[in-house]
Formats: sequence, structure tokens, C-alpha cells
Amino acid sequence: MNDCLFCRIVQKTIPAKIVHEDDRTLAFDDINPQAPVHTLIIPKQHVSAVQACCDQDPDLLGLLLITCTNVAKQKGLTESGYRIVTNTGRDAGQTVFHLHFHVLGGRRMGWPPG
Ligand code: 5GP
Ligand code: ZN
Repeated sequence: MNDCLFCRIVQKTIPAKIVHEDDRTLAFDDINPQAPVHTLIIPKQHVSAVQACCDQDPDLLGLLLITCTNVAKQKGLTESGYRIVTNTGRDAGQTVFHLHFHVLGGRRMGWPPG
């Protein structure tokens, strides 16, 4: 989708700091990091959010979570811990409607989230 920001990052027409790439998933650092490590993990194929992914390609969810854990390992977060977040829809504050998991770490995080 040409009008989707993250599809354009997949196509490399918008630059990003890519930290992992395979056939089906891509990981790149968030442009506005909320923690010392803040990386986004996305499917290369356009899917709007987690529910759509469950409906269209449920196996992809497992691959995305595997990429999340590999990125956390690459970033040195396995021992200290990290948070995986996916915002879905208005109340959660989703702003980009191409499924993405945030991997956040490198500092102590509060709970509940704001
Ligand atoms: P959401 O609010 O949808 O859960 O998360 C969208 C995320 O995408 C935000 O954390 C935001 O900082 C990040 N973001 C928005 N535009 C860009 C961009 O052009 N490049 C990168 N690397 N991240 C972006
Ligand atoms: Zn997209």
C-alpha cells in the first residue's frame, strides 16, 4: 500500500534504522523512542492490526513474536526484561494502521500503562 507509512519503510522508500529483516518480518527503531530501546516489529505484508492478522494470517503472529524476542536478544534485553506492546484502535492510541509490535526496554517501566 503506497499510502501506508510502514509499507513504505518495507519498500525502503522511507528510511529507517533497520535492525532485523527476513522474508516475512522487519524490525526498525522507533523514530520517537520512549525507552533506551524502542524497536518496532512489523509484517512485510500489509495488515492493519492484530485482529485482522488473526483473521487473515494467524501463523504470522507467531513469526512476529519470534522476531520480537530475537530483537530483544540482539539489543541485550533478555536478562533485564522488556515489554512487548501492540496498540489496537482508538482507545489504545494506535496511530499507524499497519500491525506493529513495540519492543521497549533498557529502563524500569510502570504498570498500569497510561
Ligand atoms: P502506535 O501509536 O500506532 O502504536 O505506534 C506508532 C509508532 O510509530 C510510534 O511509536 C511512532 O513514534 C512510530 N513512528 C511514526 N512514524 C515513524 C517513522 O516514520 N519512522 C519510524 N521509525 N517510526 C515511526
Ligand atoms: Zn502497510
